[in-house]
Amino acid sequence: MRVRITRSDKEWRSLLTPQQYKVTRRKGTEPPFAGEYYDFKKRGIYKCVCCGNSLFISETKFDSGTGWPSFWAPISEENVTTATDVSRGMIRTEVKCVRCGAHLGHLFDDGPPPTRLRYCINSTALAFAE
Ligand SMILES: [Zn+2]
Repeated sequence: MRVRITRSDKEWRSLLTPQQYKVTRRKGTEPPFAGEYYDFKKRGIYKCVCCGNSLFISETKFDSGTGWPSFWAPISEENVTTATDVSRGMIRTEVKCVRCGAHLGHLFDDGPPPTRLRYCINSTALAFAE
């Protein structure tokens, strides 16, 4: 059984930095070209900053030119989930961590082959490990 992490809003607030809390628990978006990983090319694994769940690997990362880390696939369909996001007057597909429900970013269908998908992820939601 997969472990699912549920914490109160107060707990998340105390565990995360204000920026991490805003992005992952309040569906925030970091400014483009400002995050730690948009222009980051080391080989390794990107994990959820909230719970450590493995989300993406460097092999599927690509330069989308958007200013946010972009991936054409998650590490596993079982680790990342999506939901419809109707915030801010737009209908978008939200990308979330399966384990703790963290908001990671959004999914678009203008990515490169082989999937043509673009997981547009906030650096703030990620923790890189080599
Ligand atoms: Zn998580």
